[in-house]
Amino acid sequence: MKTIGLIGGMSWESSAEYYRIINEEVKKRLGGLHSAKCLLYSVNFEEVERFQAEGKWEEAGNLLGEVAYALEKGGADFIVICTNTMHKVIEYIKRKIKIPILHIAEATATQIKKSNVHTVGLLGTKYTMEHDFYKSRIESNGIKVLVPNNTEREIVNKIIFEELCLGKIKSSSREYYNKVIKNLINSGAEGIILGCTEIGLLVKQEDSEVPLFDTTLIHAMEAVNTALAD
Ligand code: GLU
Repeated sequence: MKTIGLIGGMSWESSAEYYRIINEEVKKRLGGLHSAKCLLYSVNFEEVERFQAEGKWEEAGNLLGEVAYALEKGGADFIVICTNTMHKVIEYIKRKIKIPILHIAEATATQIKKSNVHTVGLLGTKYTMEHDFYKSRIESNGIKVLVPNNTEREIVNKIIFEELCLGKIKSSSREYYNKVIKNLINSGAEGIILGCTEIGLLVKQEDSEVPLFDTTLIHAMEAVNTALAD
């Protein structure tokens, strides 16, 4: 079994999900007392969020690059960045290490294609919904990406940073997300990317009439596939 290097803490609410899903899946596949070999380097999210808000992406990238390097030195065979947003700085991280990184949008695009979905709605932080790094990665797989309107993006983003990353799960916010999902479906979305690793804590498949692509689940499963591949 390969050792997974998790860059977490963004936020730790979703890193805990990665840790749980990865270990449950390894137990399911191998049985007995098997559990995942992994290293988790959990950063202080306050520092990272400040860089995001100030647009200091290079600084954020270098910080996460150092973290990845520490994981490589510690024995990780590959890296999983446990946040969609920080894939924006993946090139800075790659420069610091020799081991591969499992890209969250690439793993998600593969699942979308398997489901035969051609147009998806994207929910995530404002950086993920508005900057090009994420949408272009999905679209390069021949999938059309729709995002919510201005006001909706603002509120979706606010709920992530002011509630979900702090472990606050409110039914009023779930209703709001479900409304935004409905609007995306009305605009042509055949599936929805939960493109922020905390959204799966709020929105569930049973609330939706179209498939939801939960990036935390998809990415964690891909980590297990890689760890257990020959
Ligand atoms: N976990 C979130 C994501 O998947 C947001 C936190 C962050 O800004 O990194 O994008």
